[in-house]
Amino acid sequence: MTEILKGNLVHTPSFGRLETLPGGFLLLEDGVVRGLYRSLPREYAACPVTDWGEALILPSFADMHLHAPQYPMLGMGMDLPLLDWLNAYTFRTEARFTDAAYARRVYRQLAEDLISSGTTRVAMFSSCHTDATLILMEELERAGVTGYVGRVNMDRNSGAVQEETEASLSETRRWLDACRFPHVRPILTPRFTPSCTDELMAALGELARERDLPVQSHLSENSGEIAWVRELHPDCGQYWETYAKYGLWKPGTLMAHCVHSDSRERQAMADAGVWAVHCAASNVNLCSGTAPVRRLLDQGVQVALGSDIAGGDLLAMNKAVVMAIRASKLRQMETGEPFLTVPEAFYLGSAAGCRYCGGGAGFETGYPLHAIVVDDAAMPEPARSLELAERFERAVYLMDKRHIRAVYSEGRRVLG
Ligand SMILES: [Zn+2]
Repeated sequence: MTEILKGNLVHTPSFGRLETLPGGFLLLEDGVVRGLYRSLPREYAACPVTDWGEALILPSFADMHLHAPQYPMLGMGMDLPLLDWLNAYTFRTEARFTDAAYARRVYRQLAEDLISSGTTRVAMFSSCHTDATLILMEELERAGVTGYVGRVNMDRNSGAVQEETEASLSETRRWLDACRFPHVRPILTPRFTPSCTDELMAALGELARERDLPVQSHLSENSGEIAWVRELHPDCGQYWETYAKYGLWKPGTLMAHCVHSDSRERQAMADAGVWAVHCAASNVNLCSGTAPVRRLLDQGVQVALGSDIAGGDLLAMNKAVVMAIRASKLRQMETGEPFLTVPEAFYLGSAAGCRYCGGGAGFETGYPLHAIVVDDAAMPEPARSLELAERFERAVYLMDKRHIRAVYSEGRRVLG
């Protein structure tokens, strides 16, 4: 079916490049983008048009690192450093997810909040509970969220949610066999090196190879964590090598944070095709430091953004984009590294994750549409009429759920 969306189109077709089409037309065939036009070609004159009037049509967001079972502890324990925060809040909260009814309630809310905030792509950590993980995937699928979910593996140093090694592996296989969701796919998820024995890491590396699965985990977030990893793996020169040793460091591996990744670690990421997921709000909340995003990009590392719920407290990814800009400005003041511009950070928070999931950058032809319709008329009245690029910038900074009138995910209208 051919369908046309009309409105003020703004997208970032490549890193740092902003394209605006005031009153433009977006042509869809069965939800797949077939072209952007400033005026509608005559051959499509008879096609149905959804006219969004003066609203902005932007690519939707991709949240490439968040912990679903931590949604109930949003905004809690924010005065603690990472390892204390994990022990005092996180593991206890995650332990609640043995209860399927509780999981259903929390995950339905989370999935709905993601869509109404304009996020249609995710790479998400669940907990170590197989049934709750399947419930999470089902709820994301129902709401229209696409991407990856991982059942977390953790067989040491994990408090109330620690697993036995054998059970961790057999439950992971049970989970993988039960994953049959069209838009939400499994990703192997060793929580991080300190919470996985060598035996578990080796078996997960084998499983990744055997079933050709992607991997996500954490890397070099905090100095206490890095020192701990060094004690646990005295044979590894750097943190990343603890993943590489077991076959978990490969193209498409997502590593959250990379705050303290030096030039050698960054080069290892670029060489292997490992992605960095930058979570600026969490970097600041947990006093981890601010990730060297510009240096990662300059060294050829693929970077996407994450909310890192609940180390981060902002689920709405436009806020995560703004936090990434702020964090980069703090870094510029300290180190002179150029900050992220609005189009650059927006690309990292939308197109980058969309590409990771097999989609296109912005409204790229040939890929299913992922978009939000933003009504900025309810924002404070500007002193003069604004260019479309200015309205885009203002929307990135100011929009919230109230302004998002419709959401398209994988070519389907899932809200509005
Ligand atoms: Zn995390």
